[in-house]
Amino acid sequence: MISGIEEQKRVHRLQVAQERKFEQTYIQSMKKLQDQVSKQKIRDSLNSGGAGSDLIVSYVDWKNALSPLNQDIAETTTLAANQGVKFLSQPARSKAVYDPLDPGAISRLQSDVEKMNGQVIPQSMEALSIATRDMSRNNVKVNQAVSMIIPMIGLNKPQVTHLTGVRAAMIEDGMSDKLVASRIRTMANGKLRERSESIAITTLTESVNGGRQEMWNQQFGKNILDPNTQFNKWITSLDERTCSLCAPMHGQVVRVGEPFSNGYVSPPRHSRCRCSLVLRHYNPASQAYPSRIPRSPLLDIPRF
Ligand SMILES: [Zn+2]
Repeated sequence: MISGIEEQKRVHRLQVAQERKFEQTYIQSMKKLQDQVSKQKIRDSLNSGGAGSDLIVSYVDWKNALSPLNQDIAETTTLAANQGVKFLSQPARSKAVYDPLDPGAISRLQSDVEKMNGQVIPQSMEALSIATRDMSRNNVKVNQAVSMIIPMIGLNKPQVTHLTGVRAAMIEDGMSDKLVASRIRTMANGKLRERSESIAITTLTESVNGGRQEMWNQQFGKNILDPNTQFNKWITSLDERTCSLCAPMHGQVVRVGEPFSNGYVSPPRHSRCRCSLVLRHYNPASQAYPSRIPRSPLLDIPRF
């Protein structure tokens, strides 16, 4: 049987490869949205004092714009589940299969998509609202404002807040409006790549762990694995050793489906978390039951 660390290394490799694809999908989807957005609607919003929330909300179907990512999530879930079969110990390994069309697997997938949309969409809308209000308040020329707002579609609130600060500082330094707008557009493009990476890492940590858990659940259901003798172990990603949230979690063991000491049943714990769950067998005849761990209250931490 391979060690938890070795298993995490292999999971990590699969995940990183999938992240690259996911990032591209996010960038392409947002670029498409940026091309399609109505400049007139943005002008109207700027002229009405920056009522940014209805800038893009009322007529842009964000869910639809993000839907190409659903395919990447589904693919990652299935790949991780199938890979997970190879990590099971015998005799389960030779009997286990993963069915992506199982109702549990399908509802897990829907919930992963909803979790992603539930964070990406409101944050993106709020970010645009901030940008529009800021430019309206500072009387930025409408055409320049539009040219800066469009590349901010798909960014989050801290990113846009940073850009509005940089814009103000550049104006104060006496830089021309045109140069400021062009610099902001370039920076916005860089930030879109950064955000795509954060969303990819966190979302796919959810998918990878979700796929593995669904696969285990299916084996529990078919009596190929006994949930009473299985435990979940939290393994931190090797590049997360210094993360103060996850470092203390490394190696913690709980009964299948029980929350860990941080209140979470599974990673991800935070934005860019790449931790994994592994399944470990426990032999009641020869091993002591790992003691119950005191739980801290569940903290709601922004994911992206
Ligand atoms: Zn983590």
